[in-house]
Amino acid sequence: MASNYGAVQPDQMPAHFFHKLASSVPGVLFTYWLSPDGQSHYYPYVSDQVKDLFGVEPARLKEDAGAVFSAIHPEDATGVAKSIEQSAQTLEPWCYRARLKMRDGQYQWFEAQSVPERQPDGSTIWYGQFHNIQHYKELEQTLRDSEAEFQFQAGFQNLIARLSGEFIQLGFGSIDDCIDELLRAISDFFGIDRAYVYGFSQDHLTMTNTHEWCAPGVTSLMPDQQNVPIGSFQWWQAQINSMKSHNKVVFIEDVRRLPPEASNERALLEAQGVSSMFCVPIWIRGQVMGFFGVDSLSQRSWRQDMADLLIIVSGLLSGALERNRLEEDLLNQSIRDPLTGLHNRRYLMPRLDEVLATCNRHGERFCLAMFDIDHFKRINDNLGHLAGDQVLVRFAELLLANTRNTDVVSRYGGEEFLVVFTEMVDSDAQPLVGRIMQAVRAEQFVIGGETFGITVSAGSACVAELTEEPVSPHALIGLADYRLYQAKQGGRDCLVDASGLSRI
Ligand code: GH3
Ligand code: MG
Ligand code: MG
Repeated sequence: MASNYGAVQPDQMPAHFFHKLASSVPGVLFTYWLSPDGQSHYYPYVSDQVKDLFGVEPARLKEDAGAVFSAIHPEDATGVAKSIEQSAQTLEPWCYRARLKMRDGQYQWFEAQSVPERQPDGSTIWYGQFHNIQHYKELEQTLRDSEAEFQFQAGFQNLIARLSGEFIQLGFGSIDDCIDELLRAISDFFGIDRAYVYGFSQDHLTMTNTHEWCAPGVTSLMPDQQNVPIGSFQWWQAQINSMKSHNKVVFIEDVRRLPPEASNERALLEAQGVSSMFCVPIWIRGQVMGFFGVDSLSQRSWRQDMADLLIIVSGLLSGALERNRLEEDLLNQSIRDPLTGLHNRRYLMPRLDEVLATCNRHGERFCLAMFDIDHFKRINDNLGHLAGDQVLVRFAELLLANTRNTDVVSRYGGEEFLVVFTEMVDSDAQPLVGRIMQAVRAEQFVIGGETFGITVSAGSACVAELTEEPVSPHALIGLADYRLYQAKQGGRDCLVDASGLSRI
């Protein structure tokens, strides 16, 4: 009976009974007929719900199925046609999910399930139903979204935990290596084209790009972004100020939509190919010392919470930089003289050991000289201790100005200074010491209304003069100190070295 039930009206069954049954199910019941050549099709029977759902009269569908097929979403249409064709060939049940246009013009997901049956004339009839699964699709999407969101959050937390761990142990090497790695990892995670850190100058008048990461093929801006005056970018300066006062994030979603007062900034960003950017302040000891930023070169949509996420990253950077600054300060305090900023004896002695070790290994020649300001007590007595301090500071500057970076300049004691001349070309330190003594002699000190000059005495000793193996730092310093004493005895403002006393 069922075999030609769709092809002819079901007069064996009371029609009202059948209609009642069909209209009580939530979906649409149908029989669908397809000609052997697949060119014509219609719905011999389709339940009344098609009218409510798609605004199509069932009677129309009894002639041609086109009205339902034209409601199929363009992206799904080919899939539907192919699956029907396949089901007609194989006589496997036809099950498919597709979007259909509703009466109100909106597309909703439907699922069809039906069983095909070949007719004696070669045509095929399917018996089945289709029903709305929009709700499940939405639920599925919500689940997928929350799964993706969960993955994202977990990934972000992992990233931050890993980076902060590495920052604490400086696992990537120096603080600079750690910052480079952070920029790389964050860019990778968020799919960013360029990430960077800028530092402000002490007076906050210029800014310098200190770290940068660029995606492959993206141009580095770092070489051009050194000591950039902030003043020429008024709008940017206002953003930085509000960044400072409100710990605000600067977000430029679309460079083309910057306000007219930001025309300079827009021109620069466009020249750099930037389409959108985020900037977050970096705080060190309660002060904004710079900012962390990310650029996108193409139009993109940013996550709603991107600003919050970047604030977390910048918090990590701020914390690491602050800790690093603190460590540097502590280290400097312990190895530098606070008055002159020169290295102190605590730094000098191990350095001297090091220099002596390389010298013993490579036969390198080096000398050291001890300097003592002549009649320094008089300056203290006549002009006061503060004036004495100023002389010490200036003397330290003269020492630094007249030595090389490779030399070790240290404050050895009160007004005694020790210079280690490393990497000497010839083993005679006289010209090097002479240069310093002349610079000191030439200096005019103007302190407390008084103008005066000073002189300095020096004793030097070279490693080649000592026969002991290995040469000890104390023996070398002891010799220089003894010669300094001799220079004082010899009338001051002179040098005593291996060749005796010289007024240079
Ligand atoms: P000489 O030519 O023999 O070296 O005479 P001098 O007056 O320099 O004698 P001496 O080396 O004995 O005196 C050093 C003085 O330097 C004594 C000390 O009060 C002073 N002094 C040491 N450290 C400081 C300092 O940090 N600041 C100041 N203002 N004075 C210092
Ligand atoms: Mg002295
Ligand atoms: Mg002295």
